[in-house]
Amino acid sequence: MTPPAAVVADWILECTACGATRDPEGLPGVCDCGEPWLVRYPTRAQTIVDRTELRRRQGMWRFRTWLPILPGEQPVSLGEGDTPLVRAQRAGSALGLADLWIKDESANPTGSFKARGLSAAVTRAAAAGATGFVLPTAGNAGVAAAAYGARAGLPVRVYAPRSTPATILAQMKVFGADLVLLDGHIGDCGKAARAYAAETGFVDLSTLREPYRIEGKKTLGLEIALAFNWMLPDALVYPAGGGTGLIGMWKAFGELLAAGWVTGPLPRMYAVQAEGCAPVVRAFEEGASRCTAWDEPWTMASGLRVPAPLGGRLMLEAITDSGGGAVAVSEELLSRTAADVSRAEGIDISPEGGAALAGAGLLREAGALAREERIVVFNTGAGWLYRPGAELPRA
Ligand SMILES: *Cc1c(COP(=O)(O)O)cnc(C)c1O
Repeated sequence: MTPPAAVVADWILECTACGATRDPEGLPGVCDCGEPWLVRYPTRAQTIVDRTELRRRQGMWRFRTWLPILPGEQPVSLGEGDTPLVRAQRAGSALGLADLWIKDESANPTGSFKARGLSAAVTRAAAAGATGFVLPTAGNAGVAAAAYGARAGLPVRVYAPRSTPATILAQMKVFGADLVLLDGHIGDCGKAARAYAAETGFVDLSTLREPYRIEGKKTLGLEIALAFNWMLPDALVYPAGGGTGLIGMWKAFGELLAAGWVTGPLPRMYAVQAEGCAPVVRAFEEGASRCTAWDEPWTMASGLRVPAPLGGRLMLEAITDSGGGAVAVSEELLSRTAADVSRAEGIDISPEGGAALAGAGLLREAGALAREERIVVFNTGAGWLYRPGAELPRA
């Protein structure tokens, strides 16, 4: 095999805990101290893109000035991003919110916002000469990894809990993933994935065990800024599992502020979790700076079933620094809200999206959100992925 062409990147990696830095050569995992790297762009002029030019381009890679990609380099892409940002008046009046918007991430390739992160991570790993990928998943990340791996022409091993919704597992196979089902949760799958990566040299795409999924998730925040003409909303309500969206959007807003694209105050960031797996909410309520592992995690919102997120500290920082908060919702409330909002708005709300919307309602009742504020809530994936193959009605 010919070695991959040397990539001369204009970004560096900085450890989020000890502050160590390194160049991005090769296939970076985590810092020697065990904590995640984040990308920094010390020499990028993020002011140079022309606003009209930015609007003319398409998809999440329109924001390449903010992303880990070199001039002229082609990303591994399936047309991710540019998802609808929909005003939700009926849902808003039911929840007591007069200016509610839903960012409908179900419109991404593979049906969830995982597409953004995996497009960025697979792009970088493929450019660095990866021979294959492995990841543990609570559901949709496995589908996106399978699809982007296929797009890059590389094999993908996925470890998923046996309890993952059947349609999601079927989608992984559609894209040719080598799927291994385990009893247990994503944490158990993570251990198996790390062992497999060590054995094969495949790149571990676990949340925050490589630095680039976060960069792809930044485009969620950049799209919202663009859609509202660089006037950021008052608050964002996000269904948090591993936390890539929350951490990525907060990073995006910091970069927009530093480059003068927006002025403060930045949106308050709220994390919503399920009562059966709420390590971030518990840590936030205790005033802790880190999450402790949640015992026997369970929720039908499988994307939120992450009992010990590696990015817990970074999520808590984003929530606290932005003046936001965290709230847990019951299974009953999240599924009822998903069903109600799907009917009210014609958007196929996933259990995670239902959790976020229900959380917005609770935050409104608690006075954390005000009626007139502009609020964006995320429908992070498509509801159909959680349903078994539907029977057609008889004629
Ligand atoms: C993965 C996932 C989440 C949680 O996202 P994190 O980046 O892990 O916080 C929420 N909703 C859906 C549909 C998901 O697939």
